[in-house]
Amino acid sequence: MSTGFVCDERYFWWDTRSAGLFMPSHIDNFVEPFEHIESASSKRRMRNLLEISGMLKQLTPIEPRFATVEELARVHDQAHIDRMRELSEGNGGDAGELTPFAPGGYEIARLAAGGTLAAIEAVMDGTVDNAYALVRPPGHHAEKDRGRGFCMFGNCAVGARHAQEALGLKRVAIVDWDVHHGNGSQWLFYDDPSVLTISLHQDRNFPPDSGFVNETGTGAGEGANLNVPLPAGSGTGAYIAAFERVVAPALRRFQPELTIVASGLDASVYDPLARQMMTSDGYRELTRIIMDVANEVGGKVVVSHEGGYSPVYVAFCGLAVVETLAGVRTIEDPYLEMSAGMGGQELQPHQDAAIKESEALVGNVPTP
Ligand code: ZN
Repeated sequence: MSTGFVCDERYFWWDTRSAGLFMPSHIDNFVEPFEHIESASSKRRMRNLLEISGMLKQLTPIEPRFATVEELARVHDQAHIDRMRELSEGNGGDAGELTPFAPGGYEIARLAAGGTLAAIEAVMDGTVDNAYALVRPPGHHAEKDRGRGFCMFGNCAVGARHAQEALGLKRVAIVDWDVHHGNGSQWLFYDDPSVLTISLHQDRNFPPDSGFVNETGTGAGEGANLNVPLPAGSGTGAYIAAFERVVAPALRRFQPELTIVASGLDASVYDPLARQMMTSDGYRELTRIIMDVANEVGGKVVVSHEGGYSPVYVAFCGLAVVETLAGVRTIEDPYLEMSAGMGGQELQPHQDAAIKESEALVGNVPTP
């Protein structure tokens, strides 16, 4: 396999300013200023681990580009795009909800969306077999008219529409394994049967009011949105079961020409913003399932980085995903024995019950 890789130093210059975790610091709320949890550390260290593990030199570099306003406007309101540019040209601001950014952030966010576009173009024109776009800021919480949850523009959503409108694809799937709900992708394509959106996430983490199993799409898009809200404490057993019983059969029905993975690595056992228990080997297995189904239905796979807040462990989970895409193994994950051995990694009965609810909806996924 030849695997493309998108990264750019400027992604690490997206500046979220200070906060207490994600909470803005202010004298009135008693939150002492600290480094914002969405910092460059986890992503920069993933790129560094790719280098020192020897993985990077086995990848095909793909240059990111700036997504154009027209490309962003396929999913976002012009007023949102204009407001982001104006704030960025001034002193920065908040892109919507909990999404602080410094001057110049508009350009970096366009480079993140454009990095995802470049990866999709390289895969669809056959330059590479598949690709990982290590972009920042993330995108899956951004909605039509506002940024949310550290996201300004929907990188994967912009990518899905680009694949259709510029590259002529008919059916695109977005599989979101970020531990938070992929609300942006869900609502942007909610009435659209040509984009299948599937999100696995920790039940009512963020946003706390979306991601329920009964959100299945509307109108012509009925059945083309699947949520798998997993209980807190879900480990590799629950994630693999959800992929085998919900994600894989849904993709087999839908037969996407392209599957875009919204790759948040914040379901990891060491993540500070969630309470799941995924390991690097868990992500390896999820990637393998996606690739196997894509192979079966004759589709392609592009992975675009989303969240992930363990400054240390994101790198090992990300390496496992990239290794699987490329079909090679490099180094061992030194944390794996301890994290995989934790109690509760295997599928638990209450997790099985949650997965069953989503599984029952797979038969409503549109077929070509
Ligand atoms: Zn997340």
